[in-house]
Amino acid sequence: MSYRIGIGNDTHRLAPGEGLFLGGIYIPCDWQATAHSDGDVLLHALTDALLGAIGAGDIGELFPDTAEENRDRASADFVTAALRGVRERGFEIANIDAVVQLEAPRLSPHKSAIRASIAQLCALNESQVSVKAKSGEGLPPVGSHQAITAVVVTLLETDATEAS
Ligand code: MG
Repeated sequence: MSYRIGIGNDTHRLAPGEGLFLGGIYIPCDWQATAHSDGDVLLHALTDALLGAIGAGDIGELFPDTAEENRDRASADFVTAALRGVRERGFEIANIDAVVQLEAPRLSPHKSAIRASIAQLCALNESQVSVKAKSGEGLPPVGSHQAITAVVVTLLETDATEAS
């Protein structure tokens, strides 16, 4: 087997609002992410982790936030595009490990739905996906409700010896 590892992170500014998109699900709450797309930090970080693992640039290069076609775009599209690149190179995802940093709402009631959503989006078993949530301990910017952040690591594998 041959392996590649990728890391991605993303931060969005928070503002009072009606809910957050996170890992492809909608969570009704008193906050929303300020963004050109749907503001799904978790899927943005996942996209960058996948692109990073195959050395294919980053989400900003593929989907510039200055492009009108990316306005309010579903972030699942970004993941799907990155996954296409992964598969074209002969790789499969071995696992995805994610951390979301958010002060409110608490994500524990939503973690299993987020995990299932990511697994479905990437055609994985849920056992290959991990989603963890951390508060900001009251410290800015996460703890002061100014930001939401996600970090994602993914491992890709292939049994082809010539994958590149
Ligand atoms: Mg983003």
